[in-house]
Amino acid sequence: MSHPCATRYPLVLVPGMLGFIRLVLFPYWYGIVDALRRGGAVVVAVQVSPLNSSEVRGEQLLLRIEEILRETGAEKVNLIGHSQGSLTARYAAARRPDLVASVTSVAGPNHGSELADYLARHYPHDSAKGRVLAALLWLVGALMSLLETGYRGPKLPVDIPAGHQSLTSEGVALFNQRYPQGLPDTWGGQGAEEVDGVRYYSWSGTLQPGKTDRGRNLFDGTHRSCRLFARTFVREVGHCDGMVGRYSSHLGTVIGDEFPLDHFDIVNQSIGLVGKGAEPIRLFVEHAARLKAAGI
Ligand code: CA
Repeated sequence: MSHPCATRYPLVLVPGMLGFIRLVLFPYWYGIVDALRRGGAVVVAVQVSPLNSSEVRGEQLLLRIEEILRETGAEKVNLIGHSQGSLTARYAAARRPDLVASVTSVAGPNHGSELADYLARHYPHDSAKGRVLAALLWLVGALMSLLETGYRGPKLPVDIPAGHQSLTSEGVALFNQRYPQGLPDTWGGQGAEEVDGVRYYSWSGTLQPGKTDRGRNLFDGTHRSCRLFARTFVREVGHCDGMVGRYSSHLGTVIGDEFPLDHFDIVNQSIGLVGKGAEPIRLFVEHAARLKAAGI
């Protein structure tokens, strides 16, 4: 029996904003954890504050990494973060590079999200519209935590303005000044393969009419949201997944930035409803094989 995904170090999956481990019966990393485990990997999907800054989430992740190392006896972990989970993983690796073998950003807003910029402009926190949006997010977060069945740790703190600020271009620029590891020097370029002994990788998708809006995405409300959100993009208009721009996602070695996947498809959401010909799980399985080949 072959074990193509049997990496040396455990794979730790870090979710994005409003992330979860399992909502009722449905895991965040739908079909991905199972596929990686079938390939021989040790995989842990973690939870961090669904609505908070990347630094607060990153501190929570560091505690969780220490637990995982104790439980598995491993010396390091491979971090794979989706969306804000990428910034969360980057923070943890910058603070404790001795505990992290690699950081992989999957549709991570490594230079900010133009959707977050739009919301900051049109729904400022001190305005009535901003307060309504924050209340709505709080309600969604509260409902999701009620439906969460995979997380058994302590109650996680919520800070909606900090979470939002962590995703704007301005907020991420500040974050990048403190934690620049793996970032490209030029817009649209690739970053260093390895910094402080940590390897950096990224991949992302874009909305592609005729592909992403076909297939099972016809039945997925999150895809319609991505198409709506894409209209807020200015700098990377026509080159985004609905929430993150193609070049904004770049970190370390860029595995690909034009997969026909929206921001949710890339983690096989919702419940496997993706566009025509899309294979988000395959990207994770191939990446585990890549990490294994790198000896990590
Ligand atoms: Ca979808």
